[in-house]
Amino acid sequence: MSVWNFSAGPSMIPPEVMAQAQQEFCDFHGLGMGVVEMSHRWPEFMAVAQEAEALLRELMNIPDNYAVLFEQGGGRGQFAAVPLNLLPEDGFADYFVTGHWSRCAYKECAERYGDARLHECVVKDDNGQYVVDYSQMQVTPGASYAYLCLNETVNGIELFKLPEIGDVPLIADMSSDILTRPIDVTKFGAIIFGAQKNVAPAGLTVTIVRKDLIGKARKYCPSILDWAVLDKYESMYNTPNTFAWYMAGLAFQWIKALGGTAELERRNIEKSELLYNFLDQHPFYRCQVAKADRSRVNCVFNLANEDLNAEFLTQAKARNLIGLKGHKVLGGMRASIYNAMPIEGVRNLVAFLEEFAQAHS
Ligand SMILES: *Cc1c(COP(=O)(O)O)cnc(C)c1O
Repeated sequence: MSVWNFSAGPSMIPPEVMAQAQQEFCDFHGLGMGVVEMSHRWPEFMAVAQEAEALLRELMNIPDNYAVLFEQGGGRGQFAAVPLNLLPEDGFADYFVTGHWSRCAYKECAERYGDARLHECVVKDDNGQYVVDYSQMQVTPGASYAYLCLNETVNGIELFKLPEIGDVPLIADMSSDILTRPIDVTKFGAIIFGAQKNVAPAGLTVTIVRKDLIGKARKYCPSILDWAVLDKYESMYNTPNTFAWYMAGLAFQWIKALGGTAELERRNIEKSELLYNFLDQHPFYRCQVAKADRSRVNCVFNLANEDLNAEFLTQAKARNLIGLKGHKVLGGMRASIYNAMPIEGVRNLVAFLEEFAQAHS
């Protein structure tokens, strides 16, 4: 491993997956050409596509009454697709905002498509740390759906509980925590995720949606965002990102081989506890998120003395620890330790954090 890459996304892909893709790049399964060179309609690619979907269904235990759509347009595209598919002109939807990405989704709906009701669901506790206020996650009777983001990539906040919202469909953005732990798909009306955080290269977006919610899109919803169209054409209404789809399939195989989401959860708990326990013990560093709500995959922290930020990043880089700079809206530091990051990477980071603190205390 040449570097430990803590980028929030696009981000590290398992070295085994990278190596397999490299090996097959010019000659896929003896066909004398690469996956990126074939038509998406050829049986060779259709097999790749179907296998990826089957593996995702298996890994997440997705029931048959859910469609799995492979799309483009990113998380941002789905911020529009959700209201365009689910929110009637005269309806309204509840948005449970816990950080940057759920706020972006709320704004997309409120500013362009209709009546989005904002619920601020993060407050500061007595220690001045951010904490999720689940009591704010109440649906308004008659809502077409309730929306939340299970893992706030920028803020480092993860939801480990789901609100009880009865029959109102719960729509979740899982761009950064997909496949990091087992979840019960049947609790959701739809799950959306961009692949570039935990699964594959950028340019692939997946929607997992209960079939009875499909087919109600607004008339002017672009066909390419209309889940009914994508479902009907099996995600091949236009040319899909064949390379990212193929890479996602390789990642799903990798996850299956190592034991699935339960094993990944175990690893992600181990990695994140190692990092947070160190940060909590050391006055040189601060975590702004309360313990119970800390993301297992995006660890956001600050140096107590922020004047040292640039120096910190330079020295980290010299130690092959890269991508630690926090998101521009928040500053500080962020270590993204997704599925592909092995515990050795986190151990290396902790060793550096310790040395840097000692050298500057
Ligand atoms: C990165 C991210 C997005 C934005 O995804 P794009 O594919 O860049 O549009 C949305 N939601 C979450 C939780 C993210 O981490």
